[in-house]
Amino acid sequence: MTVAVQHLRLPAVHLLLAAPACQPLVAEYGREQTVEALRALLADLRGALLAGGTADTSEPAVLAALAARLAAANRSTMRRLFNLTGTVLHTNLGRALLPDVAVQAVADALRWPMNLEWDLETGKRGDRDSLVEEHLLKLTGAEAVTIVNNNAAAVLLMLNTLAAGREVIVSRGELVEIGGAFRIPDVMTRAGAVLREVGATNRTHLKDYAEGIGAHTALLMKVHTSNYIITGFTKEVTLPELVPLARERGIPIAVDLGSGTLVDLEQYGLPHETTVRETIEGGADLVTFSGDKLLGGPQCGIIAGRKDLVAAIKNNPLKRALRVGKLTLAALEPVLALYHAPDLLPERLTTLRLLTRPAAAMRALAARLQAPVQCALGVAYTVNAEPVTSQIGSGALPVDVLPSFGLALRAMPGMRGNPLGVLERRLRALPVPVIGRIADDTLWLDLRCLEDGHVEEFERQLAHLAPEGPAA
Ligand SMILES: *Cc1c(COP(=O)(O)O)cnc(C)c1O
Repeated sequence: MTVAVQHLRLPAVHLLLAAPACQPLVAEYGREQTVEALRALLADLRGALLAGGTADTSEPAVLAALAARLAAANRSTMRRLFNLTGTVLHTNLGRALLPDVAVQAVADALRWPMNLEWDLETGKRGDRDSLVEEHLLKLTGAEAVTIVNNNAAAVLLMLNTLAAGREVIVSRGELVEIGGAFRIPDVMTRAGAVLREVGATNRTHLKDYAEGIGAHTALLMKVHTSNYIITGFTKEVTLPELVPLARERGIPIAVDLGSGTLVDLEQYGLPHETTVRETIEGGADLVTFSGDKLLGGPQCGIIAGRKDLVAAIKNNPLKRALRVGKLTLAALEPVLALYHAPDLLPERLTTLRLLTRPAAAMRALAARLQAPVQCALGVAYTVNAEPVTSQIGSGALPVDVLPSFGLALRAMPGMRGNPLGVLERRLRALPVPVIGRIADDTLWLDLRCLEDGHVEEFERQLAHLAPEGPAA
């Protein structure tokens, strides 16, 4: 009992604050925050001792605990991590990673005033869309473009501008829900438009569209069924099939492409995805697509198409609420510029580099990392280098998978509890969290997105994974 009483003699706040070891903390975090954290720490220690526990209350121990507390409280909530899920464009992990040219442009836009809405030729007020307009017209074949916050905003703005109070015809097979509560019927309602569903879930015919058109029809809309496919007894009316009907009735056609790629991915050995240009040339009056999916740029939504329709969209007061900021445009422009050299794109555009990374590269990496990871995990788990399949993600080509290689982490038979869940948590608790994927009683670490420049850091932090390591 005398021991406990002794432990309650905690160092005084003013003495701790005056200690030389405390001065760097005051310098970094400020006096107020340091004092507050110190008081809270001492209160916790007192509470622990009164409850019969033990604690090191020496000055160095208290100041070390204070430093840890302040560091934790000031650590950014936004953390970079290793995406080893195998999904390259992972919506919950931030989608496309941008190339250094874009990073540099964003840094400049943050540090310097820029010609965001300033025409440097005339010295007069300009239009922010014009900063990327020329690139996009060239890459898509469209007459005009405008940029908004994301593709959901692009669809909303397009529908509100062209179809508020009127009807939009959509096939029942294309009433898509994208993750994160983007549903075509709901967006339609919020845009003030009336959804007119035609056809059946599995089959829609041209005559369904023809019969759906009436006095109140404002728009025909096709939606890329990004995240699912309907197989079996199916019939979809393709854009070229639909165009003559639309022209005859004088009604525009809009296509929500979702991912929307600017190049033919087949030339890089990837599955074909309809390009924006093909869609425009195929007769779409307006196309909407995301900036941070296959395009590989920052989050934004791009509306491309007929000049008169884009002009109407730009005049909608909602455009002001949905417009993009300068950082987005700064990042987007250099990414679009890369597309003018399509042969160099797989090397320069991060998204495409990851998507086209050969399985042999991941196989070699898996072979290299198998032993160190096994060593860090100890005998409770087995680690094997095995083939896996990556996905593009963000709804692009959901059924096409990319051959890859990874580490298969499995618990030894007979382990109680949820050993894979425990391991998944330990990986998430690393200094740079590692996110894998659990399937078939295996925690998979797909190595596609672990590029050479980061392997060393990945390996170094394995020390924290060991059962006796700091993170255990
Ligand atoms: C992804 C997607 C959207 C939403 O795009 P965001 O850029 O995430 O807002 C809309 N429609 C389709 C078909 C999509 O695939």
